Amino acid sequence: MIKFFDKIHKNLLNVVFPAICNGCSKLLLKNEKIICSHCIHNLPLTHHHHLLKETEIHKVFYGLVPFEFGASLLYFRKKGIAQHLMHNLKYRNQQEIGTYLGNYFSKDLMKLPIFKDIDGIIPVPLHKKRLHERGYNQVTTFCESLEKNLVIPIIDDVLIKSKNLKSQIQKSKGNRLEANKNVFLIENAHKIEGKHLLLVDDIFTTGATIEACAKEILKIKNTKISILTMAYTQS
Ligand SMILES: [Zn+2]
Repeated sequence: MIKFFDKIHKNLLNVVFPAICNGCSKLLLKNEKIICSHCIHNLPLTHHHHLLKETEIHKVFYGLVPFEFGASLLYFRKKGIAQHLMHNLKYRNQQEIGTYLGNYFSKDLMKLPIFKDIDGIIPVPLHKKRLHERGYNQVTTFCESLEKNLVIPIIDDVLIKSKNLKSQIQKSKGNRLEANKNVFLIENAHKIEGKHLLLVDDIFTTGATIEACAKEILKIKNTKISILTMAYTQS
């Protein structure tokens, strides 16, 4: 009986709040979830994880940050599918998007030998005030899906964001790097000593955030890092 009412309740919810695609806002068909099949077939794939070297991340960090593997999965373009996905994930509590993308790309990532070498996943943290306001970190569900599929544990009590910076949109690249100094700090350093860590963020824009995080992690003895972001902003 409860199941029956549950079904009615779900159907009613669907009438009042019809499920829409997080990529294009069109109504989802009955068999579609989170992202419509048109958007899935048109995901702006970077293919970074197939290229392995010579990706945009290598170009940005060349001579700046040593890393083992670096990839973004989708190109973030104005009004594009990735922009809508990232917006809905970050600001509209559509956390299933992270799970969806994690499951979708894990199938490819688990085939890469480098992932056998990774000991832990470190999500780029939010400042605790921001985390409280939003209620969640937008990379958590993506990381959880990687943790489950690739069997690599999340380590989220080592890299801490200690300063809450105001929007950095107006700042030049040089100023952003300067502003990011000392924003992240390491606690429980012993947990990552000698480990290869996958640093995960939602969007790679200038690389300043990843750079700041990576430099803190690399201060710890015998650590190595790899980088993975859901999206990459094409300038
Ligand atoms: Zn769509």
